[in-house]
Amino acid sequence: MNFDLFSNWEINSGYPFLISGPCAAESPEQIFYVARELKKFSSVHLFRAGVWKPRTRPNSFEGFGEDALKWLKEMKAEVGFPLTVEVAYPHHVDLALKYGIDVLWIGARTMVSPFAVQSIADSLRGINIPVIVKNPVNPDLDLWIGGIERFYNNGITRVATIHRGFSSYDKSKYRNKPLWEIPIELKRRYPGLPVLCDPSHIGGKRELLLSLSQKALDLNFDGLMIEVHPNPDAALSDAQQQITPAQFGELLAKLVYRKRTVNDEPAYSSLEELRTIIDKLDEHILETIAERMTYAEKIGLFKKENEIAIYQPERWNDIVNRVKFLASEKNISEDIALKIFDYIHKESIRKQSNVMYGKNEETTNLK
Ligand code: PEP
Ligand code: MN
Repeated sequence: MNFDLFSNWEINSGYPFLISGPCAAESPEQIFYVARELKKFSSVHLFRAGVWKPRTRPNSFEGFGEDALKWLKEMKAEVGFPLTVEVAYPHHVDLALKYGIDVLWIGARTMVSPFAVQSIADSLRGINIPVIVKNPVNPDLDLWIGGIERFYNNGITRVATIHRGFSSYDKSKYRNKPLWEIPIELKRRYPGLPVLCDPSHIGGKRELLLSLSQKALDLNFDGLMIEVHPNPDAALSDAQQQITPAQFGELLAKLVYRKRTVNDEPAYSSLEELRTIIDKLDEHILETIAERMTYAEKIGLFKKENEIAIYQPERWNDIVNRVKFLASEKNISEDIALKIFDYIHKESIRKQSNVMYGKNEETTNLK
């Protein structure tokens, strides 16, 4: 894919592209107030406000729809802010275009459905409006890319993406786990594709906004989408994560913008990105060791049932020779590789001993 992305929107200009505004448009007064306050920050390029809100449970506030589009149109005429709203159906697209919305965004819940995304993309055929594609709620990079392709294949070449984290069943300090390696891999595969970050929906709490925003900038994200509300605690949706315009100003002042000149190395080679990849690889190493241990335990059971000694010198000798061979093949010091495997072997013996004698047996002297 060769993206002609947001070329006239100053994305990739070296400064973060900021999108801000309330989670949802709640009244003309709210829209005008937030827009006038945000207009004071020249780095905010696009005003966001949900007019159709995808809520987890029914009977919650679901947005003011066409009425809210009218308020936004009036605000744009007076304050002059370009607008973005979330669309989830072709009829949302028709209404958004009718009221002069400049950029459409596709929400995380819509992104999980190829049918829904395709029907929105089809309704945009021949209309080259910029589209921002959030990640699907589930951590599926191909599904995210598939969503981008559905627009691109229909002639929508100005596509940007937003990383808003991924939902999971287990408890976490985040509303949606960031899993940074996924947007980083997206950036690696499509270097020209703008990838913004939405720390509001990742964190779910305003206290996490600064650290998440800084992390995104340090990972060379192209911009941020941050929810701002005149009175966050009274917001009709996402009250805990929204901040006032004044708090937004404080946040921007605290962020450290590290230089990104044209002479910079490609974004992918930045230190933070490489560290994130290393963290992920470390996790894989530990997962692999843990998997190895489950087989060690199976062998322990076999040895117990067949009354075979845990420590088999010939087998350990074979392992040592094989590790030496593989290490030199992979250009890793034999000495280091043997030390690592010595520890892994000790842990395997400990696990097997637990199987044989029960958990509390002291076994380190078995070898
Ligand atoms: C939003 O931006 O208000 C929103 C609903 O986001 P998401 O689709 O990422 O949950
Ligand atoms: Mn929201």
